[in-house]
Amino acid sequence: MSIPFSPDRFWRSLEEMARIGATPDGGVRRLALSAEDTEARALLRDWGLAAGCSVEVDRLGSMYLTYAGADPGAAPVAVGSHLDSVPTGGRYDGPYGVLLGLEILRALHEAGRRTRAPITVVNWTNEEGSRFSPSMSASGGAMGLIDEAKVLAAPDNFDPSITYGDALRQTGWAGDADPAMARNFAAYYEAHIEQGPILEREGIPIGIVTHCIGVEQWTLVFTGRDGHVGSPMAGRQDALAAASELVLALERIAIATGGMATATRLTLEPDARGNIPSVVRVAANIRHPDEDGNARMTAAFREDVAELAARRGVRVEIERAGGYPRVPFAPKLLDSLRRAAGAAQLRHRDMPGPIPQDALHVGIVVPSALMFIPCDGGVSHHPSESISREWCAAGLAAMGPAVIEAAGGLA
Ligand SMILES: [Zn+2]
Repeated sequence: MSIPFSPDRFWRSLEEMARIGATPDGGVRRLALSAEDTEARALLRDWGLAAGCSVEVDRLGSMYLTYAGADPGAAPVAVGSHLDSVPTGGRYDGPYGVLLGLEILRALHEAGRRTRAPITVVNWTNEEGSRFSPSMSASGGAMGLIDEAKVLAAPDNFDPSITYGDALRQTGWAGDADPAMARNFAAYYEAHIEQGPILEREGIPIGIVTHCIGVEQWTLVFTGRDGHVGSPMAGRQDALAAASELVLALERIAIATGGMATATRLTLEPDARGNIPSVVRVAANIRHPDEDGNARMTAAFREDVAELAARRGVRVEIERAGGYPRVPFAPKLLDSLRRAAGAAQLRHRDMPGPIPQDALHVGIVVPSALMFIPCDGGVSHHPSESISREWCAAGLAAMGPAVIEAAGGLA
């Protein structure tokens, strides 16, 4: 026995949420803890209260809408994602997961039913990391992976005179709940648009994400020798020419191993038209779906660097700048999504999650599941980001019953 979810109400809520911070090109600009984010939070709170939920806010600003269960002692099952966006964002990256959770609560409330365990919808603060680094900082803080004080002290990337903590107070969304309470969730579900083209291409509406793939971020510093651009070619120690070989090596290694690798940023010294660059910093990141993939790619690019450094007479320092671990999701929860998708006669496939989501942080501590629906052309973080009503409804049909089941079923 299940309860009737309303795909139409879910769709209308996505449309209404997308009006907050709407841009003329059809996208959304709703940076974390901005005026627009504040308005979005108020709307979510009002919707939660109208659905008979209690609303709590933690010290990092994350919101928890809880629909009580029949068993007051049971740990909540959580469904979450984020309402913040990148500066030129779309309408579905984030809100899809939050409002899917809200629809589960609304359907229960409307039917006058309760599950055994409570269900909590979470809106994590600052998932995107556009305004405050790093990304996913509130879920990381809640799980104890990032120090709470460090999250609050992060400067605004657009105006360094303001911190996360300042902005949180200004918006009035600094709560007093302990973020660590999220570690007590019995389970965590997150629905997200794929942000890639696979599901749409294969005509499959549901992606079961078996794991978030690990990410390694590196900074490589190439040091050669400055000189006049009119000096002879022989004997030069051109740091940029050396770094360029690395940029192409990363691409070649990624293609050869089935991983992904990108050099994203180059900074040069002296950075002048008349000088051979003597110091070049390269920011690069690599990711691979296989368990040992990142290690293999790292070994391969280190080998290339050693060879080209010797040949070109430049020094190369390699520093790890950060990254994310590989996080497998809970097989039992993934099975619940497969079963619910099957019962709704929705095709589904397993796939890795190449882009970190809040579920990566939560999944380190709490049994978690991440599920994808397709998005048009795989496009995301862009105003043209879009999904069909069918895909929207499919995600609800798969995750809704799975969450009810995880919460012990209808009481
Ligand atoms: Zn997202």
